[in-house]
Amino acid sequence: GHGPPDRGADRGTDRGDRGERGGRNYKKPWMDNVPKKDESKGKGAEAGSFLEHVYGSSGSGPDADLIQMLERDCVDRCPSVTWDSIAGLEQAKSLLEEAVVLPLVMPEYFQGIRRPWKGVLMFGPPGTGKTMLAKAVATQCSTSFFNVSASTMASKYRGDSEKLVRLLFEMARFYAPTTIFFDEIDALGSKRGDASEHEASRRVKAELLVQMDGVGTEEGTEGTRQVMVLAATNRPWDLDEALRRRLEKRIYIPLPEAEGRKQLFEINLREVKLGTDVAIPGLVDKTKGYSGADVTNVCREAAMMGLRRRMQKARQEGKSLVEMHNLKQEVDVPVTQADFLEAISNVNRSVGNEDLQRFADWMKEFGSI
Ligand code: ADP
Repeated sequence: GHGPPDRGADRGTDRGDRGERGGRNYKKPWMDNVPKKDESKGKGAEAGSFLEHVYGSSGSGPDADLIQMLERDCVDRCPSVTWDSIAGLEQAKSLLEEAVVLPLVMPEYFQGIRRPWKGVLMFGPPGTGKTMLAKAVATQCSTSFFNVSASTMASKYRGDSEKLVRLLFEMARFYAPTTIFFDEIDALGSKRGDASEHEASRRVKAELLVQMDGVGTEEGTEGTRQVMVLAATNRPWDLDEALRRRLEKRIYIPLPEAEGRKQLFEINLREVKLGTDVAIPGLVDKTKGYSGADVTNVCREAAMMGLRRRMQKARQEGKSLVEMHNLKQEVDVPVTQADFLEAISNVNRSVGNEDLQRFADWMKEFGSI
């Protein structure tokens, strides 16, 4: 897989923001018009689980396992990522607001030629915040969030993938309003349309296209879209053409520039004690070419240095891990500039220049803006 090693790590940093929907900088007056999930007439809230909806209170039936798996692995009923917790990417944020959030707020405006995009593709190197952006959209729109790892689906549930896709969209409608996020979409809809392509994956792709065509035609209580489709890929050039056409808006999520990296340090170090010698601008310079996930790893590494030093000393003193427990106060020492420099030398940038060129080329040919 080409996903970052620390997927899901954003949960930790988001915790403090729970309840502060929309974030500080991004709180806009019109956000008051976004229907909150509790107030909207989402069937899911009233009628219990999708499983019960399909099979009644017994909850047992031929697809019960698949449904349970989807509930467990994909569904987040209450996402909580604020725009603020995402560094940089100002253009992507405003594009997503225009393409996904505003159509929910003012559906009457987004009619005819202004009809909302069928689907939005975010492409770019791994670890740049694509998943976070999708969650932020779901949070701001107060929708359920379905996080679908397409590569997991394609490999683990190969025989059942087609049914899985259908169930997924059914479930999304049940828990509406919903944001479905297909991560690594290229794994589901790749280009290899030749004879070597498995019949099964051809069927999955076809099902995905059918389901995506259905999205946006169903009307919600206020005439708004009930299911939004977002997708991400690190390999846009592998994407099936028919699928690419459905993902009408294609947004490049690049590596963070200096300003983005500065914000990444600030966001990641919010709760960390820093030594007086720490100079963020120098760290920003030294992390040129690092992805958001890379910079996050640098901060995590640096923040652990105090503990590592103390553990080494304790080991030399022949202390056991249980005794270490009593050292809690001692290890929470301020992180120094030297800690950061060491961390930077331990964490290499994960994206090469060749890839960056490829993204730029694809952007020129197929990207939006
Ligand atoms: P992608 O989906 O693009 O592969 P993710 O959104 O999953 O990347 O990001 C992986 C991790 O890297 C996040 O959990 C977060 O800790 C960090 N990260 C990446 N980009 C950003 C960003 N722009 N702002 C804040 N954190 C980021």
